[in-house]
Amino acid sequence: FMPNYAPVGVEPVRGEGARLWDAEGNEYLDFTAGIAVCALGHASPALVKALTGQAGKLWHISNLFVNPNARALAERLCELTFAERVFFANSGSEANEAAFKLARRHAYLNAGPQKTEIIAFEQAFHGRTWFTVCVGGQPKYREGFGPPPGGIRHLPLNDIAALEAAVGADTCAVVVEPVQGEGGVRPAEREFLQAARRLCDEHRALLIFDEVQTGAGRTGSLYAYQQLDVVPDLLTTAKGLGGGMPISALLARAEVAESLTVGSHGSTFGGSPLACAVGLEVLKHVARDEFLAEVAARGAELRAGLEQLGERHGCFDEVRGMGLLQGAALAEPWHGRARELVHAALEHNLLILSAGDNVLRFAPPLIIEAAQIAEGLSSLEAVFADARPGA
Ligand code: PMP
Repeated sequence: FMPNYAPVGVEPVRGEGARLWDAEGNEYLDFTAGIAVCALGHASPALVKALTGQAGKLWHISNLFVNPNARALAERLCELTFAERVFFANSGSEANEAAFKLARRHAYLNAGPQKTEIIAFEQAFHGRTWFTVCVGGQPKYREGFGPPPGGIRHLPLNDIAALEAAVGADTCAVVVEPVQGEGGVRPAEREFLQAARRLCDEHRALLIFDEVQTGAGRTGSLYAYQQLDVVPDLLTTAKGLGGGMPISALLARAEVAESLTVGSHGSTFGGSPLACAVGLEVLKHVARDEFLAEVAARGAELRAGLEQLGERHGCFDEVRGMGLLQGAALAEPWHGRARELVHAALEHNLLILSAGDNVLRFAPPLIIEAAQIAEGLSSLEAVFADARPGA
């Protein structure tokens, strides 16, 4: 392998629901879900059926042809959201790349070549392609890769005054994660998103919500925007949408989508019959009100448990997030030790995530049971009982 990853020592070979096993039969409770991906858990019988059923029929035909699974998935996404048009791709980065290109092109066709500025936020994460990593607000991910594309500006999140001062005639888009995931599980405030909506309307810029991590039911609504009373012009979704199958989508209103004219953009694999069969099955589950209510309930249990644990051990400054995307910001004595704690949790057969050096991140499969949330919390309790602050 190239040395760009630093995997932990566990090698899972089998999974079921929220549990994983390694080759030696050691069992782990999974609060990572493949980084907020495996919405229906591991080896979901429904997804296995959807995948294997389609695998015997047709895998891939390219976008030279329409396939009924892609049409059905696009129609379903439009029924369930503000969207009227869908572009399919394979990863979050690719969906965001398409969103940024579409925003630029829409401005170009409707306002002229000077309207190119993309406004994004510090600590944001939008992907690893060169355009998306440069729109992202974490300079360390850009370092050493050469000159960035121009026309990108970063502002502090939740600073309405800074946004008001920045959005102008040359702004083509404002892009924001409703909850910053990689950047430390930081929610954007409702008033801030509303201000972004108003400023985009005033200056004919597009509001883009990157729901790659928050989408597909993770926050307790199908998309986070649906509980924030702010509707974007473009929305990107990936991760959970395929439940582990690589698929992503860019959602748009029809008028905006018009700017992606024939030949202006594309993807060989995007919208394959195989990926869309799985995506359709995922949506069948996660879009149900009863399912989303369970996600919200599990999220509330997780959050309450983390808050109590934080009080007992003085280890968290703040617990924040939405639904089953929760972050625990480490208190001063624990600063810089998120990764060490991820490893310590492993010793207690619990898999968790970090988001930067100072935040523990929890993103279990959406089908996780109340008893498993409690089990994970008690494992985490043991982690903090063992580990000493500042040690
Ligand atoms: N946007 C957000 C908000 C993400 O969390 C991620 C992945 N962590 C991406 C984009 C990039 O997605 P991918 O890795 O599938 O390209």
